[in-house]
Amino acid sequence: MDKLTVFTATRIHTMDPGRPQADAVAVSNGRIVSVGTLESMQPWLRRTPYEIDDRFLGRIILPGFIDPHTHLRLSGTYMSLNYVGPIDSTDHLGQPLSGLPDQESVISRLKELVAKATDSSDGTTKSPLVAWGYDPGMQGGHLNRDILDAISTETPIWVVAYAPHIIYTNTPMIKKIGVDENSQIHGLGRDPTGKLNGWFVETEATAVAARAVRNQVYGAGFGADSLKLQGQVAVNSGVTTTADMLYGTHSFEEEWDDHSKAITNGSLPLRMFLVPFEGSLRRRYGENFLDFYQHMASQASDQLAVHGVKFVNDGSYPSMTLRLNYPGYLDGEEGLTGEVPWEDMFDRMLPFWKEGIQIHSHANGDETIDMTLNTLKALQNAAPRFDHRFTIEHYCISTPAQARRLSALGGLASVNPYFVHYRSKIQAEKGFGPDRAEATARLGSLVKAGVTFALHSDYNLVVAPMHPLTAVWIAVNRLTTDNKTIVAPGERISLDQALRAITVDAAHVLNQDDHLGSIEVGKHADFTVLDEDPYEVDPKTIKDIRVHGTILAGEFHPARA
Ligand SMILES: [Zn+2]
Repeated sequence: MDKLTVFTATRIHTMDPGRPQADAVAVSNGRIVSVGTLESMQPWLRRTPYEIDDRFLGRIILPGFIDPHTHLRLSGTYMSLNYVGPIDSTDHLGQPLSGLPDQESVISRLKELVAKATDSSDGTTKSPLVAWGYDPGMQGGHLNRDILDAISTETPIWVVAYAPHIIYTNTPMIKKIGVDENSQIHGLGRDPTGKLNGWFVETEATAVAARAVRNQVYGAGFGADSLKLQGQVAVNSGVTTTADMLYGTHSFEEEWDDHSKAITNGSLPLRMFLVPFEGSLRRRYGENFLDFYQHMASQASDQLAVHGVKFVNDGSYPSMTLRLNYPGYLDGEEGLTGEVPWEDMFDRMLPFWKEGIQIHSHANGDETIDMTLNTLKALQNAAPRFDHRFTIEHYCISTPAQARRLSALGGLASVNPYFVHYRSKIQAEKGFGPDRAEATARLGSLVKAGVTFALHSDYNLVVAPMHPLTAVWIAVNRLTTDNKTIVAPGERISLDQALRAITVDAAHVLNQDDHLGSIEVGKHADFTVLDEDPYEVDPKTIKDIRVHGTILAGEFHPARA
C-alpha cells in the first residue's frame, strides 16, 4: 500500500446505507481505502504512511455527482453557431450571448444576420446562414418555410431547434439540401397539401439536412474547445462522471479522439462513458457491431470507455415532437417517432439484448413509453434476462401504470426532472396541456413502484443547466417558475432518494455501481465538496448550495465562478 491521503470534512455523506456518515476518508492511488473517523481507521494508519488533508474541514463531502445523460461535445458544436435561443447562454469559448424572448426577435436577429451574410466564392449564391437554439415552446410556436422565406428567398437559412430534433429551413436551403415534394425521407415535414414546409424532424431527416451545412456545423476544433469549456462547467456543478448519450453521430474516431485528448491534457476532469447511437453503429458496422465493442474495449481507460447502446424513439419535450397517447396535443400536432420503425424495434434491439449490451432507449411521451415497454416485454419473452438494466431515457410524460410495468419488467429510468420547474407552466398552454405538463417526471410513482432511477440534464440540448443540485431541488419541491406553485405534489420524492439519483443510483443506471457512486472501500475516490449540508439546509434552498469543487481519483479540481 502506497502512502495514504486522509481527507477530513465536517461531514461525509457516503450513500452507503449501512454506514451513511463519516468524517474522514483515506485514499491511495485514486481509490478509497477506508471510510469512517481518524480513530476508526487507525488499523490502516498504524501500518501505512499517511498525510491528513484538512482543507475541506468546514465543508461537506458527497460521492461525486453523476449526470448519466449529457451531450458535452455535440452541444459545443452547436454553441459555436449563430445563437437564437430564449435564455442567456455562452458560445463554445464561454463568451456570453443574450437570449431572444420571442419569435419576433428571432426573426429580426435572422434578418440582421442575412444582411451580413457573405456571397459564396463564385459570387453567384449566398453562403448559408446557420443558427441554433430556437425554442418553439418558449418563443411562440414553430418556424417554417414561409416564415423563413419572408426573411430571404436568396440566402439559404438553416435553424436547428435548441433540442435538435427539428431543423427549420427556407426554400433556397431546401434546394441546397436537395429534396423535393417526391422525396421519401422519414421526418421530412409537409403541410396538409403535401408541400414541403421546411421541417426536417428526427435523426434521419436532420442528418440529411445537416449534410448541406456540415462544414459550418462540424468545423475543426469546436469539439476540443467545447470539451474544455464543459469540463469546467462540470466541476462547477460538482459532476465527476457523465455519459454522452449520442456517440458516433458525427464520427466515432473524431469524437473519441477529442475526448481522449481532453482527458489526457487535463481539461476534462471527468469519467466519460460514450454510448453509441444505434443508427450510426448500424450504418457503419452493420452486423459486425460486436467487433466495434471489442476494439473499443481495448482502448478504454478508467476515465473513458464505450458503454451500452442508445436508441432514439421519439422527439423531444421542449421542441414538442414527442409522441402522446389520447387525447394527444392541444393543437392536433402528432410529434414524430425516431428513425427505427416501431414495428422493427424488437428485431433491432434483440442482438444487443442477447449480447448483454445495455440498452438505453429514449422515450419522452407516454405513447413511446408504451411501445418501449411492449418491446422490453417481447425481449424478455424471447430471451429472459436478469439484471439487464434496460433504461428508459427521459421518461418525461408517463403514467403510474407505466411505472409499475417498468418495475415488473426489471427496467430502469433515467429521468429529466428539469422541465417540471422550467416548463410546466409553458407546456400547460402549449403542446401537452395542463395534466401532462403538471405530472411531467413522475418520480414519486417510480419510487412507489420500486424502480431504480437517475436524474439527468441532457445538457446542453434542452433549455436546462447541467446542475445536479438543481435536479434534486426540483425533484424534492416540484415548484414552477413562480417558486410558489407545487405541481403534482404526490410525485415529489425525499431528499435522500433524490441525492441517490445523482450518485449511487445514477451509477447503477450506467452499470458502474460496483466502483462508482458511493464512498465505500474499494471504489474510485470521486467526491463532490459542498459549502453546506443538503440534509440540513431548508429544502427550498438546496440548489443554492455552493459547490466548492470536485475530487476525481483523489485529485482536487476547484470550482470557478
Ligand atoms: Zn439526449
